[in-house]
Amino acid sequence: MAVIVPKIKVLEESDEKVSLQLEGIDRSYANAIRRFCISEVPAMAIDDIVILENSSVLYDEILAHRLGMIPLKTDLERYVLPEKCDCGNPLGCQKCRVLIVLDAAAHDKPRTVLSGDLVSEDREIRPVSPNIPIVKLAAGQSVKLEAYARLGRAKEHAKWQPATISVLVDGKPEGSYILKVESSGSMPAKEIVTRAIEKLEEKFQDLHNEVASKVEDGKSE
Ligand SMILES: [Zn+2]
Repeated sequence: MAVIVPKIKVLEESDEKVSLQLEGIDRSYANAIRRFCISEVPAMAIDDIVILENSSVLYDEILAHRLGMIPLKTDLERYVLPEKCDCGNPLGCQKCRVLIVLDAAAHDKPRTVLSGDLVSEDREIRPVSPNIPIVKLAAGQSVKLEAYARLGRAKEHAKWQPATISVLVDGKPEGSYILKVESSGSMPAKEIVTRAIEKLEEKFQDLHNEVASKVEDGKSE
């Protein structure tokens, strides 16, 4: 049987978007990369909120949901998943959470509170765009809250999904697929792909070790 050497060609690359042509691999591999990009690469999102004041028309829960869906810039070198942090503190620490404060009021005329009004304790962990509407305030209304952003994965909640990814059948040549990754802006699209592949390798390594140890056990019995 002829061995097909996989080939990867970069069709498009920017911070937001990466398109790769994968040749000589099985579709299931392309789909595995896709799945790992979505569910295994963590991103930052607001997860917990302490409302100090809310005289807007939105219920606290809706406000919390809207804040959770705002994509945040993510730094996977400096932050760890709360469950992997050694602080053991349910409130988190400098390595596993970021405090973001919102303190907005409409004085004499209505105003729309935007993602750009959120003030983060870490300048690097901020909304991807400052123009996402959060709530409209009528004159005299105000919102004051503390929000905690954490790393999470989309298998827990869609708000942690770092990108949208599609796998298209290219067909020319046969057995070739196009993997398109569009980042939410949390991190460069390329980083999402490389981290997904790292995770995939880790899983294979774990499986390899597991099988090896089972085989060892079998021998000694
Ligand atoms: Zn911690």
